[in-house]
Amino acid sequence: MPTLLEFRNFNRINTKDYEQFDSKLRAKLISAAKKSKNKKVLHINATPFGGGVAEMLRSQIPFERMLGIKSHWLTIKAPIKFFRITKKIHNFIQGKSDTLTEKEKSLYISVNRELQKSLAYFIEKYKPTSIVIHDPQPLPLVNFIPKQIHKILRLHIDLSTPNPAILEFLKQFIVSYDKIVLSNKIYRLAMPWLKLSKIAVIMPAIDPLSVKNRSMNSETARLIINEFGINHTKPLITQVSRFDPWKDPLGVIKAYYLAKNKIPDIQLAMAGFFFAQDDPEAKEIFKIVKKNDRGDRDIFLFSNPKKLLGISNDTLINALYTASDLVIQKSIREGFGLTMTEAMWKGRAVVAGKTTGALVQIKDGKNGILVNSSEEAAEAIVRLMKNEKSREKLGKAAHQSVKRRFLLPHYVLNNIKLYN
Ligand code: UDP
Repeated sequence: MPTLLEFRNFNRINTKDYEQFDSKLRAKLISAAKKSKNKKVLHINATPFGGGVAEMLRSQIPFERMLGIKSHWLTIKAPIKFFRITKKIHNFIQGKSDTLTEKEKSLYISVNRELQKSLAYFIEKYKPTSIVIHDPQPLPLVNFIPKQIHKILRLHIDLSTPNPAILEFLKQFIVSYDKIVLSNKIYRLAMPWLKLSKIAVIMPAIDPLSVKNRSMNSETARLIINEFGINHTKPLITQVSRFDPWKDPLGVIKAYYLAKNKIPDIQLAMAGFFFAQDDPEAKEIFKIVKKNDRGDRDIFLFSNPKKLLGISNDTLINALYTASDLVIQKSIREGFGLTMTEAMWKGRAVVAGKTTGALVQIKDGKNGILVNSSEEAAEAIVRLMKNEKSREKLGKAAHQSVKRRFLLPHYVLNNIKLYN
């Protein structure tokens, strides 16, 4: 029976530790939090691990709690066939053609109906003043939220080129929310039937002190990647992403092979551990990627969490960002793309596909490079690998731009304003 489960294994947060990034923000946070003292917030999303939403909630919730807001996090336990359908919905929202069958629509709605009982249990237990539903998986739950509770829909997906049929289907649920929060203001064009006053735009952010994002000594990073067979004396490029068609893993491999013609000892790491239960497609895509690596010993694919050699995913990802000469994010759709933010925070030069998410984070040639194809990506990789100064310059500017715009305290402040 599908049910909602409470997640409690949060990152450790002390809001004072974040003053080093912006000393003035703390006062603003405390004053905003004072106004929301009696707020109780229930966040609901599909999965406790894997993907950007879970990544943010793990720090956002304890941060909110430190400020006195009673926030909790629920995730969905449901059969894999439910997540196959919701991944289809995700793909349609990002522009894939085709449509859901009537049977799929009905299963999607009925699983959400079955979640109603555990939703009622948690509402009774925590008496939330606001419920934040993240992304389409729990979207129909809006029908089971009592009137007096503020209903917020947080869409993290790229809505720049949606398949209209899917939004037409989801509209019946979306219109019942009090507020719809998007990662980019252009996404509101996807839902012209929504009142503008219902829409808010909040850009995502990273936790600079999490295990993944905190500064790692380069010697430690080298030791870690060596454990996995990567040679730290040879050039290394990395993409960190679920194995998902929108992240264009085959485009990454193509760019790597093109670059290898000019830099024969270049290595490629691709990390997409199978954590996200809401992405059952990842294993199929991985198989295709594996075929395309042609047994190349300079390509390192990370997918099986059992092969983490006793270290955590976050430590390995940190080491990969730290030890890489540059990071690639060759996506063709990206709602925002925390992986770019993470790599930029590490001071890495990022070569990114020109997606909506990349466009808000990267000014081409200033704090990263934007590309339209694998050929352009390869050209940028070769150019940057040959010019350490230019990599450093981009990386420094990248770090500064993340510091200014995309760190957790800003994000929490914007969310508190929303609850208020
Ligand atoms: N990630 C990870 N391990 C992996 C692949 C991805 O921890 O093997 C994390 C990555 O560091 C980032 C998140 O998953 O924090 C992905 O977020 P993003 O917004 O880039 O993409 P999404 O998966 O949500 O589409």
